[in-house]
Amino acid sequence: GLGLLPAAPAPPAPRPEPEDEERVPLAELSLMNKLIHTSLVESQQHVEILQRDPSSPLFSIKTFEELPLKKELLQGVYMMGFNRPSKIQEQALPLMLAYPPQNLIAQSQSGTGKTAAFVLAMLSRASASEKYPQCLCLAPTYELALQIGQVVQPNKSFCPLAVLKGTVLEEQIIIGTPGTTLDWCFKQRILDLTKISLFVLDEADIMIDTQGLSCQSIRIHRALPKSCQVLLFSATYKEPVRAFAERIIPDPIVIKLREEELTLSNIRQYFMVCQSSDEQYKALCNLYGSFTIGQVMIFCQTRRMADWLSGKMSRDGHQVAILTAELTVVQRASVIQRFREGKEKVLIATNVCARGIDVQQVTTVVNFGLPMDQDGEPDFETYLHRIGRAGRFGHRGIAFSVVQRETVPLVHKIEEYFQTTIKQLDPYDMDELE
Ligand code: ADP
Repeated sequence: GLGLLPAAPAPPAPRPEPEDEERVPLAELSLMNKLIHTSLVESQQHVEILQRDPSSPLFSIKTFEELPLKKELLQGVYMMGFNRPSKIQEQALPLMLAYPPQNLIAQSQSGTGKTAAFVLAMLSRASASEKYPQCLCLAPTYELALQIGQVVQPNKSFCPLAVLKGTVLEEQIIIGTPGTTLDWCFKQRILDLTKISLFVLDEADIMIDTQGLSCQSIRIHRALPKSCQVLLFSATYKEPVRAFAERIIPDPIVIKLREEELTLSNIRQYFMVCQSSDEQYKALCNLYGSFTIGQVMIFCQTRRMADWLSGKMSRDGHQVAILTAELTVVQRASVIQRFREGKEKVLIATNVCARGIDVQQVTTVVNFGLPMDQDGEPDFETYLHRIGRAGRFGHRGIAFSVVQRETVPLVHKIEEYFQTTIKQLDPYDMDELE
């Protein structure tokens, strides 16, 4: 059975002012990515393994059959449409399911199959005939916990776990936020941690980024039996995550799947110089009209500019969608999903909203104004994130920067920084565009 702990009464979230481009909380970005990634994100990278205990053999699998899985669970895996393990699963699953249980830290970007892997481990470790909590999984927010629950849920009919019972005391798999878990354990005393044999910490990077969650997670970990297996997952593994992870797992096996590096080498880049925003708009329309552009993603520097542009384009009869910080996560995910399905041809976004979102299939990107930092210097990293593509997949792309005269020197700084060429186009004569 599956026990999903309810949401803790949350303090009212401070909503960013419309003009105030606050960063979107990591937990929200992560949820958005989960809602978007309905299929596996393939990677060309190799999995790196840092192993502390040389006595334990490492092996990887190419099929799910090689794993010590119950028949019903294997059937469940195939019913989910998984034919073969993902890159990270090839290495992580044998370690996670090995006897004696081993502690593991796994890092890979969103969409590479981490959740599916630890859900499988929980389903495999839990015994249906024992009516008490055996697996505990912590996630940074209630919404993220719910997403994990949805991966567990369909498998319940394929694995011999008890039917979900009303009280958490009898559930074998518990998924919740650190706050609620602490509350249920120590205040309400309705969750018994003494027989937990598998502890999963999901999204460790978000845990440490969010006030209080890492301390709460450590407190929960201290209450678990010494022999409990610990699995920790993270999309990134920089120093603060490492320090946190090693407080919980002192001598970990770490497996890492490096993120695909972005490159500009497959991208044709152009820029156009205009006198005013109105002229920038005309240039954009000429561009749009001059060739069948397919889908285009347009980035603006500010929320106000994005609103202005989306209003103007809709009035001119274009089907545009806009991503703003005001939308809820679910609304944002639905905007992106519609765009991905081709229901809208144009997606207008600001940096903040589009950061970390996977729009690899968009071949045309427009910078409506260049990304800049507070000092008026080019924001190189943002430029690369908007326009760059994961190298080895070789998707070709085309990028236009529609800028005003005073930003032209920044275009050249970008060229220099990336050792790339950005060709100038006449905004009123697109014929030069081969
Ligand atoms: P992560 O936790 O790393 O973000 P998920 O486990 O959520 O990744 O997987 C991302 C998507 O890929 C999900 O839609 C999931 O159903 C699917 N998926 C996971 N593992 C496999 C697999 N072995 N084969 C096919 N699809 C998979």
